[in-house]
Amino acid sequence: MELRQDPTTRLWTLTGAREEEKAEKDGRCPFCRGNEALTPKTISAFYSNRGEWTVRVFPDKSPVFQIEGDLDKKAEGMFDKMKNIGAHEVIVETPGHATSLSMLSENEILDILKMYRERISDLKKDRRFKYVILFKNHGTLAGSTVEHLHSHVVATPVIPARLERELRWAKNHYDMKGRCLFCDIIYQESKQKIRTVFENKDFISFCPFASRFPYEVWILPAIHSHSFEETIQKSTIADSLARILKVIISKIEGITPAYHIVFHISPNESSFRTMRGDIGTLMEDFHWHIEILPRTEGMSRLQREEEFYINAVPPEDAAKRLREM
Ligand SMILES: [Zn+2]
Ligand SMILES: [Zn+2]
Ligand SMILES: [Zn+2]
Repeated sequence: MELRQDPTTRLWTLTGAREEEKAEKDGRCPFCRGNEALTPKTISAFYSNRGEWTVRVFPDKSPVFQIEGDLDKKAEGMFDKMKNIGAHEVIVETPGHATSLSMLSENEILDILKMYRERISDLKKDRRFKYVILFKNHGTLAGSTVEHLHSHVVATPVIPARLERELRWAKNHYDMKGRCLFCDIIYQESKQKIRTVFENKDFISFCPFASRFPYEVWILPAIHSHSFEETIQKSTIADSLARILKVIISKIEGITPAYHIVFHISPNESSFRTMRGDIGTLMEDFHWHIEILPRTEGMSRLQREEEFYINAVPPEDAAKRLREM
């Protein structure tokens, strides 16, 4: 596979075939404890007192990005391309066959968050990687082929398009007003209280003003922070995040069987330093957050082609229903 850039949109596309991870033919779940032989070798794991793993990470069997080699940036005439250098890991989040975060205890979710932090920090040590994508697909409609609770961590040599836009507009807002865009949004949402869903002392959640999907929910740290890794270093704050995640996921699952959870974290600052000499105002202008995107059937043609999102459920109505659940 290689990365190719469309010069008209500057968007990168991964070109080439990839095999999908599948459940075993004999029905055994490759992610259950005891079936480790069905998956690649462990990269990292947490263990219980009895020495059994509780959270386990290994490389994806058919990765979209590969760890070995150089980026090998090339031109093909006027076009730009590079090798798909990066990393693609799978985090199995529970040894038993649980299929959702809402089935786990807050302590178990806390362990998963700690593993997210460990993997993100570890991958960010590699200066070839500009970004670490952390996401979870839940339900077949959301493209998940193994139902056992797991997430994907993908380190990439380019910043993903949506993040790049978010970073750009956050910086633009900061340059104009000297304030964090996301802090401004939090202030307005907590004043208006028509789209808020749930909050605790460290986090706030709401259906965003221009929600792309019905019942879309964002979770943000209430106090400004550009770095997920730094925020959850504090154990009381990590506890709060585990709690709000469990609450929100339980609510979302009362409405839809399929959703994506995407972490929008800061890019790899060490790769920036080598690229541009500095990271600008990233620490002040970016505010990490989690986006929960429910999937529904029958997306319109416009939506598939990403011209416009069409959402039949206004976020004010969505938030009201989620609050009352
Ligand atoms: Zn399983
Ligand atoms: Zn902020
Ligand atoms: Zn975002």
